[in-house]
Amino acid sequence: MRIGVDLGGTKIEAAALDEHGRVVVRERVPTPAADGYDAILAAVRDLVARVEAEVGPRDAIGIGTPGALSPATGRLRNSNTVCLNGQRLDRDLAHALGREVRLANDADCFALSEAIDGAGAGADVVFGVIVGTGTGGGLVVNRRLLRGPNAIAGEWGHDALPWPTDDERPGPECYCGRRGCVETWLSGPGLAADHARATGEAIDAIEIAARAAMGEAGAQATLERHVGRFARALSMVINVVDPHVIVLGGGVSNLPHLYEAIPERWGEYVFSDVVKTRLVPNAHGDSSGVRGAAWLV
Ligand SMILES: [Zn+2]
Repeated sequence: MRIGVDLGGTKIEAAALDEHGRVVVRERVPTPAADGYDAILAAVRDLVARVEAEVGPRDAIGIGTPGALSPATGRLRNSNTVCLNGQRLDRDLAHALGREVRLANDADCFALSEAIDGAGAGADVVFGVIVGTGTGGGLVVNRRLLRGPNAIAGEWGHDALPWPTDDERPGPECYCGRRGCVETWLSGPGLAADHARATGEAIDAIEIAARAAMGEAGAQATLERHVGRFARALSMVINVVDPHVIVLGGGVSNLPHLYEAIPERWGEYVFSDVVKTRLVPNAHGDSSGVRGAAWLV
């Protein structure tokens, strides 16, 4: 039995998995973000206590959360739960829980969950991608999360969109300070912004997909541009990492056309005569965060 915690901006979820990956116990509470950092630590502690009341105490707890610990400072950075930023989250959670914790980024937990017993099960190299409000990624090799010296393995969202056309330069402004990042094109808001620039209509990705399905030309053209950019961005990853499987998660991964349309396009950019990489939707959906956190242990 292993326990994982998914510490998100709106909810904290804890689950115990048995050795076959079955969820035995699951508990969740709203994240008390408005009450500050100490309240969040206490909420995690109490939630783990509730799970352990049913499955017994564990020696270590896996934690998944947006953002990552800076290798330079040991403090969390890039979290959308802003009161966590600048904190020594791993140390403080270990103190609150009274034992070792293993902390990883939420996209890394997604990749690990899908690689171990999800859509990438059985594959040696799995690139897990979350494309929702942002764009993140994680790499799993032989069922182990790749953790590089900079703690950024798989983070492709803030690379520049490769092979840009003239009208894609310099590209939309990104919150990271650069322009034309992959995230500014592929994420849900990025897709919606591209549609708005082309048509003047401010509608979200789901509405764009619905209108495209009904045959609206402007919406179809937006999805065509999006697929082409997605194919280019993933080709860059394939050329560097050559994964066996790429698993998509996040809201944008629910667009069903991606899984045929992207592989039809990426052969043009991958530096190989054949592309055997499979592009697949995730198997565990929203549960991947807490499942991947448990697999950290
Ligand atoms: Zn960026």
